[in-house]
Amino acid sequence: MPVTDQLPPGLYVVATPIGNLGDLTARAAEILGTADLILAEDTRVSGKLLAHIGAKVPMRRHDDHSSDEERARVVALLADKAVALISDAGTPLISDPGYRLVRDARAGGHAITTLPGPCAGIAALTLAGLPTDRFLFMGFLPAKAKARADTIAEVSALRATLVFYESGPRLGAALGALADGLGQRDSAVAREISKLHEECVTGSLADLAARYADAPPKGEIVIVVGPPADKVEASDEALDSALLGALEHLSASRAAAEVAETLNVPRKRAYARALNLSK
Ligand code: SAM
Repeated sequence: MPVTDQLPPGLYVVATPIGNLGDLTARAAEILGTADLILAEDTRVSGKLLAHIGAKVPMRRHDDHSSDEERARVVALLADKAVALISDAGTPLISDPGYRLVRDARAGGHAITTLPGPCAGIAALTLAGLPTDRFLFMGFLPAKAKARADTIAEVSALRATLVFYESGPRLGAALGALADGLGQRDSAVAREISKLHEECVTGSLADLAARYADAPPKGEIVIVVGPPADKVEASDEALDSALLGALEHLSASRAAAEVAETLNVPRKRAYARALNLSK
C-alpha cells in the first residue's frame, strides 16, 4: 500500500522495535506519524517511541483488559479513521494484545493492514542455529510447576523446534522443567536481542539449566529448543540376532516385548519377526 498524507481508513497493525529503535521500519514510522489515532498497550512506553520519531498523533490505551464496549467503539471508528495498533515492543498479537480487535474489525468488514517488523521469537530463531523448517511458538510457559510440566509433556513428541518467551528470574526453573520433560536436546537462550548486551548461549538443555540454575540473567529472554534427535531404527539383522537370543528362554510375545524395549523398535515389528523366527 503506498503511504500518502491522508491514510485510507481502517486498522493498521504496526510492529515496533524490540530494543534498537533503528529497527522501526520506514513504513511503520510513516503510518505512526499520519494515523488519526494510535492504540497502545501502555501510552507511557509508546510515548517514548513516538517522541523519537516526532509523531504527534493522539494515543489511547487498548489491551486485552479493554471492555467489549470500548472495543466496539474502536471498531466503529474504523469506518472513517486510520487507527494504528501497537504494543510495548515487537509485533502486536504475538504474546501481546490485539487478536480480539482484529477479529471484530474483520467481522465488521473494515480494512486491515499489517506492517511486519521485529518479533523476538523469529529473531531468536535466526540466532540459535537450530532447525527452522518447522517450529512451534509456545509463548510463556505457565509459572506453576505442574501446569508447566503438563504443557511441556503435550509437545514432547513433536518433531519441531520449540520457541518460548521467558523472564530472567524464571529462566532456571523453565530450563530445568524443559530438560526433565524433553531430555537431551540442543537449545539456545537468546537474551536482549538488538540491545547493547545481546547474547545467544547455546548448549544442551541440561547444560543450560545448570548454567542458569543459580544465576538468573537480567533482561528479556527467548528459549529455543531443537527437535528430538532422529531415532536410528535397528537393522533386521540386529533385531533377528537379539530375538534369537531371547527366544531361547522366552515366548515370542515376551521376547518381542523385551527386544523392542532394548533396541527401541516398535513392538509390532519385533513381534512379527519373532513369530517368523519361532516357526
Ligand atoms: N510482541 C512481542 C514480540 O513480537 O516478540 C513479544 C511481547 S511479550 C509480552 C515480551 C517477551 O518477548 C519478553 O518477556 C521476552 O521473552 C521476549 N522479548 C521481547 N523483546 C526481547 C528482546 N529484545 N530479546 C529477547 N527477548 C525479547
